[in-house]
Amino acid sequence: MRIEKANAKINVYLDVVSKRDNGYHNIVSIMHTVSLCDLVSIGFLPGSETSISLSSEGISDMPTDAKNLAWRAASSFLRETGLSGRVSIHIEKNIPMAAGLAGGSADAAAVLRGMNTLCGNLLSVEALCALGTTLGADVPFCIRGGSALVTGIGDEMADAACMPMSDIVIACMGDGVSTPWAYGALDEKYSHFSIPHSTTAQSDKILHAWEDGDATVAFDHFFNIFEQVVPSKQPYVERIKREMYACGALKAMMSGSGPSVFGIFSSKEAAVLAQEKLEAMGARAFVCTPTKAY
Ligand code: ATP
Repeated sequence: MRIEKANAKINVYLDVVSKRDNGYHNIVSIMHTVSLCDLVSIGFLPGSETSISLSSEGISDMPTDAKNLAWRAASSFLRETGLSGRVSIHIEKNIPMAAGLAGGSADAAAVLRGMNTLCGNLLSVEALCALGTTLGADVPFCIRGGSALVTGIGDEMADAACMPMSDIVIACMGDGVSTPWAYGALDEKYSHFSIPHSTTAQSDKILHAWEDGDATVAFDHFFNIFEQVVPSKQPYVERIKREMYACGALKAMMSGSGPSVFGIFSSKEAAVLAQEKLEAMGARAFVCTPTKAY
């Protein structure tokens, strides 16, 4: 039995720069894992018959069959390695679903890491990431964790400086946002990205500031293109941002395709106070910190 942390991610920078003929979007993003996490227990009993069972706690509407990305990760791992046997997965779910925090991808990555450890590290990290790509664009990043500059359709990753230690609050309220819907809304707004643009200079400024250990200069360059379309569908985004700023947030922004919002505070005490206010407002709120690569 192996227990893996499946850390959520936030995007401190997320731009869509162009669209490929096959409909996929090219992005530039800086992703960072945070200490908010699911706990994924993985058991594997080698044998001639293969079965995968998945159970969960903390949530009732997460799929427990092949629709679950963690289930599919176990299946892909067995197929790739040629192993067979009984896999049991238990997910203690803490990361809000469909919230732009990559909870599903994090669970899938945890299963790949855990299965690989249980099976004597049959696959290299590179091979695990290649397998992860077949499950979802965020999975390779979630396998490594820490900080990364992510480009292409989300499948190209370069190591990046980590965010200086910060006290972060993540909050969300109301219904989740479907990522395909959010891309569709951007397509309409930007005429299917017929005029590609480049914004890597902005993301570089964040990474240079972090290399210098400066958290605050980086805030000026935080950006999320989805903030242009998601808040009109999910008004809680702006409400949560306003509340975070009222509680003293140094920066507050939506993560991924939303609707979760993260705020960065000057101290743990300020973060906890903000969490209490947000919970009183009816939001789910979590205090966390940035985490390093696994
Ligand atoms: P992203 O930021 O990568 O778009 P997200 O955080 O918005 O991801 P997830 O929480 O990963 O979204 O889940 C999106 C959908 O995927 C859910 O609505 C759920 O039905 C499905 N799903 C499959 N497996 C999982 C899992 N292990 N955890 C959460 N959701 C899962």
